[in-house]
Amino acid sequence: MVDCRAEIDKYLKRLFPITRSITGEGNRETLRILQEIVPLDIIEYPSGQQVYDWQIPQEWHIADAWIKNSKGEKVVDFQESNLHVVSYSAPVHEKMRFSKLKEHLHYLPDLPEAIPYRTSYYDRNWGFCLSYDDYMRYFNDEEEYEVYIDAAFSEGALSVGELKIEGKSSEEYLLSCYICHPSMANDSLSGVVATAIIARELLQKRESLEHSYRIIFVPETIGAISYCANNEKAMQKIKAGLVLTTCGGPGKFGYKQTWQQEHFLNAMVEEVFKENGIEYCTYPFDIHGSDERQYSSQGFRINCTTISKDKYYEYEGYHNSLDDLTFVTAENLNRSVNLYLQLLEKMDRNITYQNLYPNCEVMLSKHDLYPKTGGAILPGSSVSALDMRLWCLFYMDGKASLHEISQKIGVPIEMLYEEVKILEEKNTVIKVTDG
Ligand code: ZN
Repeated sequence: MVDCRAEIDKYLKRLFPITRSITGEGNRETLRILQEIVPLDIIEYPSGQQVYDWQIPQEWHIADAWIKNSKGEKVVDFQESNLHVVSYSAPVHEKMRFSKLKEHLHYLPDLPEAIPYRTSYYDRNWGFCLSYDDYMRYFNDEEEYEVYIDAAFSEGALSVGELKIEGKSSEEYLLSCYICHPSMANDSLSGVVATAIIARELLQKRESLEHSYRIIFVPETIGAISYCANNEKAMQKIKAGLVLTTCGGPGKFGYKQTWQQEHFLNAMVEEVFKENGIEYCTYPFDIHGSDERQYSSQGFRINCTTISKDKYYEYEGYHNSLDDLTFVTAENLNRSVNLYLQLLEKMDRNITYQNLYPNCEVMLSKHDLYPKTGGAILPGSSVSALDMRLWCLFYMDGKASLHEISQKIGVPIEMLYEEVKILEEKNTVIKVTDG
């Protein structure tokens, strides 16, 4: 167990107020702050670049925005909350009647105190978001309003953070999170902070890692697509992935299954929950969601899972100002980080071996493989070391992974991995996993 609560708390508070979008300075500032945790490379993909069926959009800059009433009082002010402006809004400075303004106002009658989070990325438009209470308080048919959005678009770039960690095998796992949401704590930011901390933990134990890791921080959808287009061959070889988001709320744990239901990641996530005595929700793969939509598409077919604690779509504050730092706590996020680290340990240990003596049994005593402790049952399992060695030799045909064998004989993969290392040292089995 790692205890990163103080660090998580510090970075949640620093990163929460930043105005992020699909492009722009807020994203770079976020990545630069994350560089304090882990040595990310910041990669810039130029505006206008064609990425499959999409094009990288212009950079968006926002300095200020407000609506004033006829007395000149600000009734909506971007300086108070960056959610007040529809993300990627075009500039505007006009006086207008309420009848014209109202089609640009967004609010939530069912959550009267909450400011909604809205975007308009691919339809050049502008808009303001405000609480329904403020809408009722400050707006009426008779009045004229002055509307101001000091925004600009420029040819620039889309910024992405990347860290590659090389393990013993070149076979890679992907960890991906999205950096495009402004002040949303659970949706996006919880995943960003968790990914950075997990990346640092992996980096610290890189000497012992069996797999390699590709860890990316991208704006959702367009960033994931841009990354795939610019790293097509490498992404096609990815073994499996994690998409980290909405993992810091007070609610129940859950996980979104990978697109192939029988994939080992689904079984591993359930093992992690069960080993910790955690009740969880299971969300079958769905075509809606986050960047697994891109990674699992036909060209890549990466099986990706997400561990959630208050999953997107499911909680009241989803895409509104209730998704703040009273909803997400360092305590909750630290628990999710630890579950992810346990999952990653299982993923990392999931390698494949070939028994070098496939014809009849190995003579264990000749290789000093007959356990000195006799038939003692190993703690945490139902089998003895002798049984484990015999079963491993029996199943290790160069195709069965350690996870498959661990499921067949009911022994946690971490324990099996330690035993198999002994078989490997004695030159009875050999690793075949090597991308
Ligand atoms: Zn979202």
